[in-house]
Amino acid sequence: MTSAALIVAAGAGHRAASGALLPKQYAPLGGQPMLAHALRAFCEHAAVDLVVTVIDPAHAGHYASCLTGLTSAKLMAPVAGGSTRQASVLAGLRSLREQGVTRVLIHDAARPFIDQATIGAVLAALDGTTGAIAALPVTDTLKRAGADGSIAETVDRGGLWRAQTPQGFAFEALLGAHEAAAAAGSFDFTDDAAIAEWAGLKVTLVPGPASNTKITTAEDLAMAQQALTAGLEPRTGTGFDVHRFKQGDHVWLCGVKIAHDKALEGHSDADVGLHALTDAILGALGDGDIGQHFPPSDERWRGASSHLFVEDAVRRLRERGGRIVNADVTLLCEAPKIGPHRGAMQAAIGALLAVDAGRVGVKATTTEGLGFTGRREGIAAMAAVMLLLPP
Ligand code: MG
Repeated sequence: MTSAALIVAAGAGHRAASGALLPKQYAPLGGQPMLAHALRAFCEHAAVDLVVTVIDPAHAGHYASCLTGLTSAKLMAPVAGGSTRQASVLAGLRSLREQGVTRVLIHDAARPFIDQATIGAVLAALDGTTGAIAALPVTDTLKRAGADGSIAETVDRGGLWRAQTPQGFAFEALLGAHEAAAAAGSFDFTDDAAIAEWAGLKVTLVPGPASNTKITTAEDLAMAQQALTAGLEPRTGTGFDVHRFKQGDHVWLCGVKIAHDKALEGHSDADVGLHALTDAILGALGDGDIGQHFPPSDERWRGASSHLFVEDAVRRLRERGGRIVNADVTLLCEAPKIGPHRGAMQAAIGALLAVDAGRVGVKATTTEGLGFTGRREGIAAMAAVMLLLPP
């Protein structure tokens, strides 16, 4: 059984971006483009094996920015969409034909708050049927407007649901329904369940959470921004680290390899900047320190690349439902010169923390020839982070 997630992000709708020329699925939300949230949710779900996104090829650069900090073997290359949502889904389904996919989840990029439980519930419901969609029972009283804008009637809301995504289907059944609809020239379906119904497939309703909202307007986007931070408390953490010089021809600093007439001594690659950063994150979490989680006595970490330590701290942060707001690293040394590498360091740290490089500070200072750094005996680093964490 192979389950694929197909994320639809080919739309050109600018409504939510309040005048900006950014399609809404790439509008910034919690420090990342909106699409990045759904991408991560599906990549992280244990029962999802493949993730493919349908995009407008003109947005390839925006799409690439969604992959910051997201490394998943499940993630396939994006597929070019069509002129309608329906045509885009069909293009995505066709791209999956040779992948042995048995079940597919279609999800709109404009629903960034999709949670692991809902993905699992839709997949579980597929065990007994050809189709299952997340949906929410209608609770508002419904009115039908007349031609003059006044109420023509009150509509019975009994049995009415609002369709959400993900919408899950047996893969071959949905592909067949889409191909038949396209062959019939029917391109006005607004969701995949409608196509499945048209093709005579049985589709089950799975109660989804109200939080799985669709972001359409600028007001929706503003409310989503608030929802992301509501109830989260800000935490700060600091880290400090020192490594002494030894003979060598390069140093690793903040994830960047720099040619130098010395190397830094350490059990790992001795990236003093990433070590301080790791401790800053662990400090904000109140979760020990780098030496506790990666003891120098453990042979597994001999020569290890220090991005592993940062990634582990970020994993601990995610498991607690938190995220990074910003990070700031200061390197204390007489040499090497840091300035030429600052941009690369910001990008490397941003990728590790899954935040834009603009949320990462990298600074350097000498100590005016004073102390061990002034005597060029080693390099010291300080780091600070702010993160948001559920209380
Ligand atoms: Mg260290």
